[in-house]
Amino acid sequence: MGHKSWLGLILLFFTTLGTSGIALADSETPPARDPKQPVDEAYTAKIRKYTTAPYFSSPLVDYLPASKTVPTPEVVLGDVAGAPGILPYAEDVYKYMRLLEKATPRVKVVSIGTTEEGREMIAVAVSSEANLKNLEQNRQRLAKLADPRVIHLDDAEADKLVAESVPVYYITGTIHSPETGAPTALMELAYRLAVDESPYVREIRDGVITLITPVVEVDGRDRMVDLYKWHLVHPKDFYPPLIYWGKYVAHDNNRDAMGMTLKLTQNVLSTYLGWNAQVLHDLHESVPYLYDNTVGDGPYNAWVDPLLVDEWQMIGARNVADMTSFGMPGVFTHGDFDTWSPGYLMFLAAMHNGISRLYETFGNAGADTRERALQPDEYSRAWYRPNPPFPKALWSQRNNNNYEETGLLTSLHYFNENKRLFLKNFYLKGKRSIQKPSAEGPAAYVLPADDPRASVQADLLRILLKQHVEISRASSAFQVTLPVKKEKKPGKPADTEEKPKPAAAPTTRDFSAGSYVIRMDQPYSRVADALLDYQYWSPEDPQTTPYDDTAWTFGELFGVQVVRVTDSKVLTVSMERVSELLAFGGVKGDGSIFAIDNHAEPALASLRYRLKDATIDAAEEPFQVGEHKFSRGTFLIRGVSRSELDAAAKSLGLQAVALASAPSIKTHAVRAPRIAYVHTWISTQSEGWWRLALDTLQIPYDYMSTQALAKIPDLNAKYDVILFPPVTGNAAPNAIVHGTPTSWGNPLPWMNTPETPNLVGKNDSTPDMRPGLGWDGLARLQSFVRNGGVLLTALDTSQFAIATGLANGVTSTTSEKMKIVGSIVSTRLVDAASPIAYGYDEKVSAYCDDGPIFSVTSIIGGRRRHLGPEIKTRPTGRGTKDDPDFVVGRPASETPDEPEKELWEAPQPTDEQSFNNPRVIPPANRARVILRYADSKDLLISGLVENGNEIAQHPAVLDVPSGSGHVVLFSINPVYRGETENTYSLVLNTLLNFDSLNAGRKDADQK
Ligand SMILES: [Zn+2]
Repeated sequence: MGHKSWLGLILLFFTTLGTSGIALADSETPPARDPKQPVDEAYTAKIRKYTTAPYFSSPLVDYLPASKTVPTPEVVLGDVAGAPGILPYAEDVYKYMRLLEKATPRVKVVSIGTTEEGREMIAVAVSSEANLKNLEQNRQRLAKLADPRVIHLDDAEADKLVAESVPVYYITGTIHSPETGAPTALMELAYRLAVDESPYVREIRDGVITLITPVVEVDGRDRMVDLYKWHLVHPKDFYPPLIYWGKYVAHDNNRDAMGMTLKLTQNVLSTYLGWNAQVLHDLHESVPYLYDNTVGDGPYNAWVDPLLVDEWQMIGARNVADMTSFGMPGVFTHGDFDTWSPGYLMFLAAMHNGISRLYETFGNAGADTRERALQPDEYSRAWYRPNPPFPKALWSQRNNNNYEETGLLTSLHYFNENKRLFLKNFYLKGKRSIQKPSAEGPAAYVLPADDPRASVQADLLRILLKQHVEISRASSAFQVTLPVKKEKKPGKPADTEEKPKPAAAPTTRDFSAGSYVIRMDQPYSRVADALLDYQYWSPEDPQTTPYDDTAWTFGELFGVQVVRVTDSKVLTVSMERVSELLAFGGVKGDGSIFAIDNHAEPALASLRYRLKDATIDAAEEPFQVGEHKFSRGTFLIRGVSRSELDAAAKSLGLQAVALASAPSIKTHAVRAPRIAYVHTWISTQSEGWWRLALDTLQIPYDYMSTQALAKIPDLNAKYDVILFPPVTGNAAPNAIVHGTPTSWGNPLPWMNTPETPNLVGKNDSTPDMRPGLGWDGLARLQSFVRNGGVLLTALDTSQFAIATGLANGVTSTTSEKMKIVGSIVSTRLVDAASPIAYGYDEKVSAYCDDGPIFSVTSIIGGRRRHLGPEIKTRPTGRGTKDDPDFVVGRPASETPDEPEKELWEAPQPTDEQSFNNPRVIPPANRARVILRYADSKDLLISGLVENGNEIAQHPAVLDVPSGSGHVVLFSINPVYRGETENTYSLVLNTLLNFDSLNAGRKDADQK
């Protein structure tokens, strides 16, 4: 256990503080055990034993009330909640909750859906018998407060409902699987709320419905418990890191509240809204000892109601005050978490008129009791943390459970004390959402019926439906007035006099019938507004470390038109509610060859895989048939019946036109490639989003690790494309090759064994996670590309391809001062003739998170000196600015013109550089730039861009020939969090045109 004399000293000091003297408002019930309450002595003794110091507990949880009829968590756990060595599977937690339900009418358990791997999710309601008996009537009352249109925004009626209603406080645990403490804390909390007869707990039970989802990430929980059990059997070994949590993503499962791609997000939101809850309180465990982070730091999300901001402050401040008065160290709020992004699970409440809350308590990633040493930034005193945690302390899972339960009990009690205020606010936030058009605006968002990317538009709108946003379709054409854009004040030098411009006249915009209207006079207008609007994060913001993405503007990330309309006339247009979204697809016209115009819709790739036997060619040039204009990359389809194509096109939202004959233009075959999809055993976080996108599009692939890839002798015989999505975004090339050291330590198996029956799930397995790709794998990857294969990489896997010489003629630099933190930036098409660019317009909005910054060279090993455009000036000498200098005393010589090259282009090698230099790359072997970042002034679309000149104009997507194959590199992340559908087709085009990537290449015949 180590040397602990310092601990003894601290212990002595703190035990003298005691836990009395809590300041209470008039008539508030003190947080204390009722002396008449019978206590479960054996259980209580163990609570005390497993709590490492008395001040890591509180009078609310340092005993367990006894019951003759209701079982304690011990019946399932075999010990008390938070006991060392014990982590229950989700199934055990559910078993206990259902035992509670059987034993007492104060508990009700409902199933709320399943996970991607088919495991059940539950919600447990704990309240008085009367409240649970009258659930439905209460739900109807709350529903009226949630949608004040039902009561015609009548405040008096609302007051009546507020007085009669019992609020719902929803608690969610263990979304982050290595944060393991919540399930046992929530088992015990449910027991306490059902059994304890102290006035303090009784008031909560009678006044509030506590709703609990004890395990949010059920798939990940079961894997984590497996690993912990493995650790108990092999106590001296390193135990494998939890590489898979859910089927798709790890930590990012708490960044899905915008895209709503994961079942856990959908299930929690349905439960939250179905119960008309007022609070969503999510439990995490990564900060000592309890950080109520919702109050956080600026900038606050710009779309939440200020009423919510006040609620955060109220609840947070009281929570800290209560726990501080118990003498519990290390409880604080504020901290450095900004409340900008609405991607967190808890934010489902903030965006739906409720109250979002999040705890970070302190977990040990398992149930071992360990001495924990903190970093100075964790234990130092700060203005918001006058009572910081200790630099070192012996810490147990029981301590963690004590903090979680104490925090929740005091929160529930405070919430109950003030429930009329919170219920009234709940109503007011709904009412103010409905009044948005006449208050701050806008009146609506309109998505035009004639958007060429109908299937993507439908995908975006389906997300809004998952967010429970009401969507309507206009039954007739309509016109709105657009706001006049204010001219910027001229900041020009005085000598460039310009006539003042006449005030711009208001412009109008026409929309055809069938356009989608998202009215802002609805209860959940707030979430639609937040997702569709633009974000601006000032480079001068005092918050210098954004916690997550700074932008998410869905219209830009999906590449569909979204018009923010402030003209309230839009609300009078005749329209109908849409309950299901079907993009219009199918076959029109007559003929035996079918053309589908290319607008970079991901559904095109699904179609290619679905119509296995059809012949599909891509048009290499735009063409016109009658009135129909078709863009480059248009699909020309043969060998499929009209009815089969019609059915497929309908279900995918694609429009096909039957043609009498094939257009006489150059084409190439579009084939469905055999895909090897590669992951590492370092991290599967970022690639998980790519996997989810491919699965959603029904594109098949073989999923394998770098280790497995290295064992395949002839990759070309089995695969056409190797897809190597980002690892972490910044994994080092040598980590990808070498993995984790194997010279010491023990193998780290990721396999199903008796101790780990749930580990593998439906993903991958290995007897040892440590080895990486290895030199053999690298050699095989290299010969795969040389022999004609296509390797697609992004971010760190692109850097790996450059560093290992798989992609020549490209250098990668990291920025010096640039800050682009999960922002949306503008890119420009450089080579529209490349199949990778098919379907895209000249401007492409993309998600970017600080690069990397690529440059193209014409000499292997050559590199660009400058980040950003160079400024060329002539040296001091005779003459004028444009008139050449000359040197005295020798014949005049003409200064040669330096060849002008754009920043995204490879500089031409000079004659001197080319002399006898085998490192000069012939034009046909040079990297082909498909997309580049926009000029500095145009770079920012949404979010934060600071010192963007470092990456401005540099290549964003590159196609590098290598032998007879290609390596395709991405500096943007094209597939991210289910939010970036606009850039999916850059990847999908690479797949579908894998054997024709040189199509349209200008310098291909310059060999
Ligand atoms: Zn967490």
